[in-house]
Amino acid sequence: MIDVQRKPATSIDAVDFKDLPFGKVFSDHMLVCDYVDGQWGDVRIMPYEDVKFPLSLHALHYGQAAFEGMKAYRMLDGGVGLFRPEMNFQRLNKSARRLCMPEVPEEVFMKGLEELVRIDSKWVPKEEGTSLYIRPFLFSSSSFIAARPSEKYTFAIITSPVGPYYSGTVKVRVEQEYTRSAAGGIGFTKAAGNYGGAFFPTREAQNAGYTQILWTDHRDHRFIEESGTMNVMFRIGNTFRTPPLSDRILAGITRDSILTLLRSWNEVVEERPITVDELRYSAEHGYLQEAFGMGTAAVVSPITTIGFKDKEYDLAYDEAGYGQRIKKALGDIRSGASPDRWGWMQVLEGLD
Ligand SMILES: *Cc1c(COP(=O)(O)O)cnc(C)c1O
Repeated sequence: MIDVQRKPATSIDAVDFKDLPFGKVFSDHMLVCDYVDGQWGDVRIMPYEDVKFPLSLHALHYGQAAFEGMKAYRMLDGGVGLFRPEMNFQRLNKSARRLCMPEVPEEVFMKGLEELVRIDSKWVPKEEGTSLYIRPFLFSSSSFIAARPSEKYTFAIITSPVGPYYSGTVKVRVEQEYTRSAAGGIGFTKAAGNYGGAFFPTREAQNAGYTQILWTDHRDHRFIEESGTMNVMFRIGNTFRTPPLSDRILAGITRDSILTLLRSWNEVVEERPITVDELRYSAEHGYLQEAFGMGTAAVVSPITTIGFKDKEYDLAYDEAGYGQRIKKALGDIRSGASPDRWGWMQVLEGLD
């Protein structure tokens, strides 16, 4: 049962869709569902507004909190499509299990998401490269400060129209001191705290003139893991290389989609550990053709400089390179310009 309380008048007319700051403008409605006494209650869709909470809110103290990031796209025929939403649903529950939170029922996530996007479908922008960014999240909402798992939890979804994400090119520094995640830890989850822990090292790298960190393993910083908050791909010679998934790496949906796409193009793709030394050697000897981050926000984010301990290597940015070809191919599937051969799009039928 979804309980819908509509906003009396839309705020859409006050929004300048030509100039959208990322994640600061929210659509008319939000979804909330509470877990109390071991049970999920009704899904409520209501006007987007501030909520009241006590300062003893569990999530603020102990960080039982995880989120998802996904998008709804305006299609060429005017329709609206979600890209692989069940992957986000499954991943949120993977995060929930590791963070000792109750799993969100499929009904609540999938039906709730669809209904919310349907109600706010006018908020899915039409300009090229734009989308409605969707943020489902789950957090502990008991009011006590005893250091044990929460008893109450809240699942919510808010949405935000976003402009074309011009990430530009990125300069990454191979991290030699900090770690984003460790074996046995929570690096494979989209735990809020993973981001909290990454901001400081990222700012240090930015102060040194870089855009992002190329994260390395926790043990001795020998293996490449991720680029900022994206998975990372290298084209070395004619082979595409990305680190294999582990409990230290977030299983990106963009990563998975790009691997599928490349394999369908008969490219050689390897999910195999990449050492810092190997990357450096391939950059030094001209084998490294291309490097890019992969994630929902920018899809593909070209890396043009890699900074090692004592030396930087530049990579030429090629407009006709694989990074841009991949970005276009995924964009065409999302807009309906090319066939959806893997059934990735969930198109919302019967919108008004
Ligand atoms: C969200 C995220 C990604 C990318 O995942 P997508 O599903 O492709 O958006 C990669 N790495 C980290 C650490 C992330 O949090």
